[in-house]
Amino acid sequence: MNALPGAPHLAYQQNRLTLDGVDLQALGRQFGTPLYVYSASAMRAAAQAYQKALEGQPHLLCYAMKANSNLAVLQLFARLGLGFDIVSGGELQRVLAAGGQASKIVFSGVGKTRDEMVMALRCGVRCFNVESQAELEVLSQVAAGEGLNARVSLRVNPDVDAGTHPYISTGLKGNKFGVAHGRALELYAQARRLPSLEVVGIDCHIGSQITEIGPYLDALDRVLDLVEAIEAQGTPLHHLDLGGGLGITYTDEQPPTPQALVGAMLERIRARGHGHREVFLEPGRSLVGNAGVLLTDVLYLKPAAPEEVPEGGRHFCIVDAAMNDLMRPALYEAWMGIVECVRYDESAVAKQTWDVVGPVCESGDWLGRDRALAVQAGDTLAVLSAGAYGMTMASNYNTRGRAAEVMIDGGQVHLIRERETAAELFAKERLLP
Ligand SMILES: *Cc1c(COP(=O)(O)O)cnc(C)c1O
Repeated sequence: MNALPGAPHLAYQQNRLTLDGVDLQALGRQFGTPLYVYSASAMRAAAQAYQKALEGQPHLLCYAMKANSNLAVLQLFARLGLGFDIVSGGELQRVLAAGGQASKIVFSGVGKTRDEMVMALRCGVRCFNVESQAELEVLSQVAAGEGLNARVSLRVNPDVDAGTHPYISTGLKGNKFGVAHGRALELYAQARRLPSLEVVGIDCHIGSQITEIGPYLDALDRVLDLVEAIEAQGTPLHHLDLGGGLGITYTDEQPPTPQALVGAMLERIRARGHGHREVFLEPGRSLVGNAGVLLTDVLYLKPAAPEEVPEGGRHFCIVDAAMNDLMRPALYEAWMGIVECVRYDESAVAKQTWDVVGPVCESGDWLGRDRALAVQAGDTLAVLSAGAYGMTMASNYNTRGRAAEVMIDGGQVHLIRERETAAELFAKERLLP
C-alpha cells in the first residue's frame, strides 16, 4: 500500500490505484469515463474535523454546497447534522430534496431575486446574508409582502487580502461582495429600522483556497470591532458567521487543519469576550475537494516530432475529459495532480512529459501541462482533488453530456448521477415551424 499525500483514501495496491479499496480503472470501465468518484468516508472525516473543533461552542456548520451539490453529497452532510450555505433558489430546492432542514440554511449571494427571497422566506431559512443596501430594502419589502420576518446578517467586506488567486479572493475593497466596512454601521442602523427584518448576526467570507490562518484572524478582528460598535449603537447581534475558504492540498500546499484554524479563531473570539455568540462557518472546498477524483481515459498520444521540439512542439496526451467537465485549470490556471490508475514497470513504458488536454475546441482546454506520465492509449488517468468545483462547474460546451458520478461508501459503489445523453441535452429545444 502506498497512500497519496493529503488523501489517505487513495492508495496504490499492486500498482493499481484504489479509492477506499475500490479499483479505479475497473470502476472507469464499469461506468465509463469521464467519471467523478467520491469517498464518503473522506467527506465525513472532513466534516467531523470541523465538528470536533467546534465542540463546546454554540455553532452552526453550513456546507457551502456550490462546491459539490450532488443530492447524495448533501444527504451525507445533512445526516451528520450540517446546515447549508446556499447562493440560489435552485440550491435551496436541492437541500430540501436531499432531506436537509431549511432552519439550518444561510442564504448568501449578491444577486438574490425577489422570487428566491419569497421561496426562502416561506421555507423559513435561518438567515439571509445581505450584501448591499439595495438588497436590504428589497428584502424588507418582500418579507412585508409575505407577512413574514426575514432574519438578516450583513456580509461585511473586511478589506483583508486572503493571499489567494484574484478570481477567488472576495474580501478586498475592489470585490463585488459584501458591504464596505466603513458603511456597515449605518446599514445596520437602517436594517434595524426597516420593517419585517430581524437583525441576527454579522457575516464575512474573504475568499477561497486560503492556506494561512493570518488572514482569517485579521478579518475576525475587523468583524469583532464592528460587532462592538454595532452593539454600542443598540443593535444586539446573536451570531458571527465567519465564512469558508479553507484551502486543500493540490500540489504542495500545507493548509492548516480545520482543528488549527477553528481553534485559533475560537481562541481570539473568547479572548475578546465574544465566546457567548453562536459561531457559523461555511466551508465548501475543504469538506469535499480532496475526497474526489475525476477519471479519464487516454484517447490518443500525439507526441511532437523530435525536430519540432526545439521550436516549441509539445507532446499531447489527449484524454476524454475536458474543460467542460473540469473547468478549474482553464479558468484559474489551477494545478491539479494527475496520476496513472495503473502503473507500469519502468522497463515496459517509460515516463515522458505530456500536456494532458481534452477534446474541446479551445486552446485553453487542458487539464495539466508538463506532466511526467507513463501512459498508452486506452489507459485511465485520475485527476486528483477534483471533489470541489468540478462537477458543479461542468457545462455542456461542444454538446458534451456531463459526466456520471459515483460515491464509494463502506466498500459499496453507488451511482449518484447518471451520465447525460445527447438527446437530454437538446430535449428542451424546439425546431422552427
Ligand atoms: C463559496 C463560498 C463559500 C465556500 O468557499 P470554499 O472556498 O469552498 O470553502 C462560503 N461562503 C460563501 C458566501 C461562498 O460564496
